[in-house]
Amino acid sequence: MTQRHITIVGAGQSGLQLGIGLLDAGFQVTTISNRTPDEIRDGKVASSQCIFHDALENERALGLDFWPDAPTVDGISFTIPHPEVPGEKAISWASRLDNHAKSIDQRVKFPRFMEEFVARGGELVFEDAGVDELERYTLNSDLVIVAAGKGEIAQLFTRDAERSTYDAPQRALALTYVKGLTPREDYSAVSFNLIPGVGEYFVFPALTTTGPCEIMVFEGVPGGPMDTWKGVTPEEHLANSKNILQTFLPWEAERATDAELTDPNGILQGRFAPTVRHPIATLPSGRQVLGLADVVVLNDPITGQGSNNASKCAASYLDSIVQHSGPFDAGFMQATFERYWDYAQHVAHWTNALLAPPPPHVLELLGAANQEPAIAHRFANGFNHPPEFQEWFMYPDKAAGYLAELATAKVL
Ligand SMILES: Cc1cc2nc3c(=O)[nH]c(=O)nc-3n(C[C@H](O)[C@H](O)[C@H](O)COP(=O)(O)OP(=O)(O)OC[C@H]3O[C@@H](n4cnc5c(N)ncnc54)[C@H](O)[C@@H]3O)c2cc1C
Repeated sequence: MTQRHITIVGAGQSGLQLGIGLLDAGFQVTTISNRTPDEIRDGKVASSQCIFHDALENERALGLDFWPDAPTVDGISFTIPHPEVPGEKAISWASRLDNHAKSIDQRVKFPRFMEEFVARGGELVFEDAGVDELERYTLNSDLVIVAAGKGEIAQLFTRDAERSTYDAPQRALALTYVKGLTPREDYSAVSFNLIPGVGEYFVFPALTTTGPCEIMVFEGVPGGPMDTWKGVTPEEHLANSKNILQTFLPWEAERATDAELTDPNGILQGRFAPTVRHPIATLPSGRQVLGLADVVVLNDPITGQGSNNASKCAASYLDSIVQHSGPFDAGFMQATFERYWDYAQHVAHWTNALLAPPPPHVLELLGAANQEPAIAHRFANGFNHPPEFQEWFMYPDKAAGYLAELATAKVL
């Protein structure tokens, strides 16, 4: 059988992981990138990219764990400030992850993965792909996959109104990469703070271009007091970050007193609508291409799942492709996406739920975790595999059942 050729547009988390996996499985692979490694390294941060155990395992399985000594994220802490007493916490708990998470700045990771992709025999082409280029790739490829993240080309895939919960951005997003932030006591964690009506703030250790750092992530309710990033200089961005903490989360402000930007490109601000798209785009010629990861299921970063999803989508598509001996036609494309959606729908459901004001059963669970470490542990470890939240967190009846189970176990 002749070697099958796959072209992947987009050299990011999903495109590079899938490309390397396909090379290892004996495919001929071309990956298209609209940025060179130097442009990525010297460019702006794009994500906080915290990746949990199962997704890290996908990378390890392909021999892509190039940063074994990078800072680890060993737990999750969760805090809601007291609504009436400034400076006090209404809910505050923490739990360890069973297996650590890690965040490697994409400016560090993608150039290294690109190098590895080429070293394993992949063809890396630098061009900004549009419709004409896609038409060209389909002529000499058995399958063309679009893994362009939030790139404009993703618009070729139409929105799936039935599967999309929102049609507008739900948060004003900002990232601030810093050094000099005081580490958490005990163990490292994603320190997650939820300020009802205002937004969320979380911070955790990572590895960036200049070494270990901490990444501050702000998720402001649009139009609210955390939506204050537009048009600021890097220095103003840092000052704004500290100011928000001082106003709403003094315990986090204290940790950030000496924080300095890692580099002038260590900041980001933006917003986008969480969107599920149809997985197949039809080109003017009638030929079809398949969307991967953020192109097809784009979630708000509130739950830090995008890179995890990208890794899991790449792993799922890799398996579907390797198992398939027939033509990569529309039937194959749809089935490949549906297999991933079986997982991803639960991540989207949970993530979209957290963007809405917390319903009473969620507040009850998060409050009960203050006294009951088992709840905190289950919540923290759910980030590794969010479908688990369907079993206890997402529905009032299941939440009540879980709390009753815990109470019974205590009495016995
Ligand atoms: C503020 C913020 C915080 C986040 N924090 C986290 C987190 O903590 N944990 C987590 O798991 N996820 C997080 N994410 C999400 C995560 O970064 C993305 O979901 C993930 O990178 C998506 O992977 P991907 O492969 O789909 O796309 P990407 O990794 O974005 O890669 C797409 C690549 O395609 C290239 N490209 C685009 N258009 C073209 C074109 N026309 N031609 C050629 N190349 C093209 C781009 O340059 C890019 O390199 C965060 C996102 C944001 C915005």
